[in-house]
Amino acid sequence: MINSIVPNVDAVRLARMVEVSRELSSTNDLDTLLKLIISEAAALTNAESASILLLDRHTRELRFKATSGEMSPEMADTPVPLNNSIAGAVLQSNEPMIIHDVSRDPRWNSQVDQAINFRTGSILGVPMHDDARPVGVLESINKQSGAFTDEDVNILGILADLAGVAVERARLIEELRRANQQLAELDRLKSDFIALASHELRTPLSIILGYVSFLRDEASPEMAKQLDSVLRAAVRLRSLMQDMFNLKYVDAGEATLNAADFDMVDLVRDLIAQRDETAFAKQQTVNLQLPAEPLPVLADRGMIEVVVSNLFNNAIKFTPEGGRIDVTLERRDGELWLCVSDSGIGIPEDQLERIFNRFYQVEPHLRRHHEGMGLGLAIAKELVELHQGRIWAKSRVGEGSHFFVALPLHTGHAS
Ligand code: ADP
Repeated sequence: MINSIVPNVDAVRLARMVEVSRELSSTNDLDTLLKLIISEAAALTNAESASILLLDRHTRELRFKATSGEMSPEMADTPVPLNNSIAGAVLQSNEPMIIHDVSRDPRWNSQVDQAINFRTGSILGVPMHDDARPVGVLESINKQSGAFTDEDVNILGILADLAGVAVERARLIEELRRANQQLAELDRLKSDFIALASHELRTPLSIILGYVSFLRDEASPEMAKQLDSVLRAAVRLRSLMQDMFNLKYVDAGEATLNAADFDMVDLVRDLIAQRDETAFAKQQTVNLQLPAEPLPVLADRGMIEVVVSNLFNNAIKFTPEGGRIDVTLERRDGELWLCVSDSGIGIPEDQLERIFNRFYQVEPHLRRHHEGMGLGLAIAKELVELHQGRIWAKSRVGEGSHFFVALPLHTGHAS
């Protein structure tokens, strides 16, 4: 056989194969890949046309996936059974097959020919696999002159081997892309649901808060005590919903970032003054260490307030009665550093990164002593990163925690 191969033709074909192999490995789109394979199959075997049939993993039938020229819908929809078809015989025997005249072969089904007005004479079919797994059949149809040769079998076999791997890779990429799309869609639905629920719950909760405050002012001392409990629960609920609502803020990302120039020292001083009532109620000492000079930032004030409040609220929440909280702000190498430290319960070293993931909490959900949804730090991190900043924590169990935020200082001119 080797003797019958014209050397320069073989060299040309091999050179083309190398080129095709390069193209196959750099193409991930299944349709483009299939078109490339059939056009090369026809050219390399000097055939009138070519087709690819891929094995449907669920129904175990072969289906036309590509053919030279336009593929009619009838052709794409017609399943080719594994038994009693030429392509099926190629796949099952796992051997190449030459049929010189299909009209004499009892396995030949002329339905497709009739549907697309084509006349098949000869076929060279080779199996395609990915590793050892059969994935389909590559066929060259109607040798232009003479009959299909052993060299055609070899060259189509090599192309089918390369094609099998490339097609499976493209299929996997396609599946991954689809799975990713589904995940993104689920994530969007979840965020939309959270935003909608928190938004819808806000109005009735405000009404409850308003009426309870009013009733409390009018109530007897005994009743006032009970109404205080209702008020506390409603305020707690409002803060949980605020976390849920802030998530929407984060998911919208830069689209909602409303940057303005302001002084961080002012913001921290005001915010801590507004919030330290809760710390006071727990007899905690709050220490503020702020620089005398202003620290200007170009940022979204609302978002930075969420970051500082989340850290401060956590410090209060995870520090027992009578504990200490330190909030410091300083300038460091062209950055602004905020540190919120507490003398609270601390965080195990191996969880210092994970606490910034959405819904992550150190205490197991069913044995929690502290309220919350595990969103505060995730929101803080995403908001800080939206401002090109960094956030991290240092802590030892039983010895308290330090949370740091570094943000770029605004110098007034582009750096
Ligand atoms: P939440 O406070 O609503 O649970 P966060 O995202 O704010 O959610 O915090 C995640 C977890 O990190 C908390 O549940 C807690 O286990 C831990 N954590 C956060 N801040 C502190 C802190 N200052 N001291 C101890 N643990 C903390």
